[in-house]
Parts: sequence; structure tokens; C-alpha cells
Amino acid sequence: MYHDLGDGSPSRDIYVLSPSLFRAQMETVTEWVASQQLHFVSLGSDPQPGIAITFDDGYQSTLSVAAPLLVRLGIPFHVFATRSYCLSGNTRYLTESDLRELASLPNVVIGAHGATHAPLAQMSADDLQRELSESRDWLQQTLQRPVESMSYPHGSFTPAIADAAQKHGYHYACSSKVGTYHSASQRLSIPRIDIWSRDSARTTLRKLQGSWDWML
Ligand SMILES: [Zn+2]
Repeated sequence: MYHDLGDGSPSRDIYVLSPSLFRAQMETVTEWVASQQLHFVSLGSDPQPGIAITFDDGYQSTLSVAAPLLVRLGIPFHVFATRSYCLSGNTRYLTESDLRELASLPNVVIGAHGATHAPLAQMSADDLQRELSESRDWLQQTLQRPVESMSYPHGSFTPAIADAAQKHGYHYACSSKVGTYHSASQRLSIPRIDIWSRDSARTTLRKLQGSWDWML
């Protein structure tokens, strides 16, 4: 799970990686994947062996930094975009036309990430319905394709929210819990491994290899 790859200027935010660090991580992981005869996979509704890359929120850097590298390396990836961020006019975020450009790339899937990015577990039933439907309707309209996935803003969800997501047409959904997706029973609460701005390429690899599973 990635967030922002910034613009190359220093940031103290653990969710803003430098572009050069991201490149180093991807190169190291790509070598390891090849040496282990593993694969990068596209995150989908069923678990499959391999590594799937996701980006939350919808940052401009997903298109400007991540996409060129990942497309060149042949790595599929998933982008979860928040409607209010993408419509904000803030250049830090993807615009609707950026989203269409991303969606046109090979092996890129776009999913929803809330209409406003508010934590779903803290809102009324009416607001929850609105968040789930408005975020999906907007993306489907923007991309002119079905949107079947989401990630929960702030990782905030309950079993009832997962049920509501499924009823609103989401076939699978990512949480922010640390772990791997190994059973279809996790389809609406897919765990991920969080990569931070201070994670060297080696630390990233160790996280993927399970060295950080004590955090589970
Ligand atoms: Zn988010």
C-alpha cells in the first residue's frame, strides 16, 4: 500500500515517499520477484499468489512518477481515488482527465476511496450510503467503466460496512490492516502491507517477506 510519491522535495510525512526511493524499492522487489519465480499480480476479487501494488487517495504522483516506471517494468497496479480530492482543483491530486489517462494504461485498475475521505465507521447510515454510492457513481461516470473495488478511507470499516459496500456493488475492498490476502473470506477486508517514506528498498523487501508480520 502506497500513498503519495511527492514531487522530489523533502517531506516528513511517512506517507510521502521520494520518487527515487520508490524507484529503488521497485527495482529491488522486481529482482527478488524474478529470483523467486513469483509474479506481480493485478489485485482482484479472488486472492492469487503474487504481489499487488496499490495507491490510495489519488495523488498526481501516481500518474507522473509511479505509472511510467510500473508500465515500463510491466507491473500491474491499483489506484483508489477519493472524489473530493480529485475535484478539489489542488494540483497534488489527479484530475478526472488524469484518472481517464491512468485507466487507459495496461493493467491499471481504478477503485473508489470514498466521496469525502471521512472515516466510514463514524458516520450515520444515511451518510454511509451516500459515501458508498456517490464515490462509485462518480468514478463510473468519469471512467465509463464498471468500478468494483474500493479501499476504506483511514482503514475505517466494520463488518456491517463491508456488507453495505457489497450491496452497493463493490466486489472487493481493501482495509489498512497489515497482512496478506490469502482467503476469499477476506474479499471485503483485504489486508495490505504499508510502505513508508523511511523504508529502504531492503526494508520494503523484508516487509514483503513477512519480517514485519509481528505487527499483525
Ligand atoms: Zn486515504
